[in-house]
Amino acid sequence: MCNSDDNGKNAHICLDMQLPQQDVLRAAELAIAENAENAPTGDIDVVRKLGVDPTSTVEAFGAVLTGKKWQPGRKLRVRHLDGDPQIHAKVEHYAKMWEQYANLTFEFGNDPDSEIRISYHHDNRSWSYLGTDALAIAPDTETMHYGWLHPTTTDEEFRRVIVHEFGHAIGMIHEQSHPEISIKWDVPAVYRRYESQGWTKAQVDSNVFFKYSKLVTQFSEYDRSSIMHYPIPPELTTDGVAVGWNTDLSAKDKAFIARIYPKPQPAPAMDMGPPGAVPPPPAAQPAAAISGPVRIRRTWG
Ligand SMILES: [Zn+2]
Repeated sequence: MCNSDDNGKNAHICLDMQLPQQDVLRAAELAIAENAENAPTGDIDVVRKLGVDPTSTVEAFGAVLTGKKWQPGRKLRVRHLDGDPQIHAKVEHYAKMWEQYANLTFEFGNDPDSEIRISYHHDNRSWSYLGTDALAIAPDTETMHYGWLHPTTTDEEFRRVIVHEFGHAIGMIHEQSHPEISIKWDVPAVYRRYESQGWTKAQVDSNVFFKYSKLVTQFSEYDRSSIMHYPIPPELTTDGVAVGWNTDLSAKDKAFIARIYPKPQPAPAMDMGPPGAVPPPPAAQPAAAISGPVRIRRTWG
């Protein structure tokens, strides 16, 4: 159990995994080949407003605007590279919670070309690459990692961690990086807390304080109940506002991912009624899916 004995002070919290700088452009090419919607839609001026290093190349600018969304309907192969079969079974069970809402399927097996590769080591770190970034990782290398799961871990903790990491694997960012969030952080206290757990200052900046620009993300209303949100104890904010431990998909998580990866709509019934009857009006069309980059991850610096 991670969250009760010490009020979260030594809690197990996911750390975002970013691609090495030299892989960013190739990852962008792979992302666009996967789903043409990932292609940058902004222009260089837009990117400059994001504060990107102006000495970067035009190609790097473009990569920043490239999405990481899988093709809707995709079957994503998932392979365990090591680990305990009891834990594998938990991972497979909870990962599939996303399938109820997203038009994606996880197929677990030993395919060497699996898009998602999971490794397990007790190093107290759990993470996943974001969406199609996994395509840029060497095929014998992990794209997702669990560092504190044991056969005796509670089901609530299995669900919290596994659903969260698979959220990253389908492109979701941390909710505390929401473009419209306004948390009144006690900045020195936040650094002290996370540095005491071995994080660098840069990791705190990237994982806790960083906010995405509205220009490069698709987002729904900020959701403090999201499975993608870090817990925030009240002592880390100047106004005492806190966020609890979210251990399950929220209603907004479900609605958001259903819009990003829409399931095919059933064809309207063709019941024309008795001869001479007026045909029924056409069924209402489903809301259009969001287009453009999906909650893409910052890819520079
Ligand atoms: Zn995370």
